[in-house]
Amino acid sequence: LTTTACFRQSERNLPSILPRAPCSHKGHIGMLLAVGGFETFTGAICLAAEAALRSGASLVGVCCHKQSRNIVLIRQAELMVVADSAQTLSSSTLLKKIKVIILGPGLGQEHWSQALFDLVITLPQSKVVDADALRLLAEYPIKNSQWVLTPHPGEAAVLLSCSIAEIEADRFSAVKKIAQQYGGICVLKGAGTLVSDGNIVWINSTGNPGMASGGMGDVLSGIIGALILQSVDLFSAARLGVYIHGRAADIIVQKYGQIGLLASDLYPEIQRLIN
Ligand code: AMP
Ligand code: MG
Repeated sequence: LTTTACFRQSERNLPSILPRAPCSHKGHIGMLLAVGGFETFTGAICLAAEAALRSGASLVGVCCHKQSRNIVLIRQAELMVVADSAQTLSSSTLLKKIKVIILGPGLGQEHWSQALFDLVITLPQSKVVDADALRLLAEYPIKNSQWVLTPHPGEAAVLLSCSIAEIEADRFSAVKKIAQQYGGICVLKGAGTLVSDGNIVWINSTGNPGMASGGMGDVLSGIIGALILQSVDLFSAARLGVYIHGRAADIIVQKYGQIGLLASDLYPEIQRLIN
């Protein structure tokens, strides 16, 4: 047994989100940018961006491949496509308005993806780094205190250059090691998701096997990004985000069952839980 300080999170010990001031406007809360959505992965960036909207991000911009652009715009009218490549993003006047970036859903591992990764990873904004961006990060190991990394066990294995079996054999050490090696907060997903700052580990108490379906992780990155945008600190945003994500799924599953649960089914419950 390790000496890790480990806590089980429940509704009683969760951080919370402040209610909006009566005079709030969308400019106060600010803008989130979701970066990803290569040609064939448009769905992933849509799910992350839509989940961010449902979690209280007032303004959500998307940087996706030009082939994905119209699909994003038609699917969700509240989204803005602000750029379609590293080049157009770096020259966008909106870049300085962005407070939080989600990097990775459907990013792919093409030249286009790499160029975006190289640009975004060095930007000063707080980030949620997920999916393909984690695989690219493993080849570019830098440390940053201002990001939340959200690997599933396969991505965690790439980050630590080990096997998935080694990650699953000691998930507590793995989540701490990733946070220590890369900085910031690590969310090691799966049944009993773990959240660590490299020191303390929290075990999440919500979620169910119905969540083992495509797009579920993209929705989580959107929730966490939106919480950070609403001034929740990174560790609290990660803890609260995984709790809400799993709880939303638990509530829907009570009604409809686990089989056939879709990531986008979570939106109404996410909105209810966040309010
Ligand atoms: P991803 O693999 O990136 O799509 O992420 C899947 C999401 O669903 C993560 O948030 C996991 O924690 C969650 N998930 C998947 N399978 C389970 C499970 N059996 N129990 C609880 N949560 C799960
Ligand atoms: Mg994923």
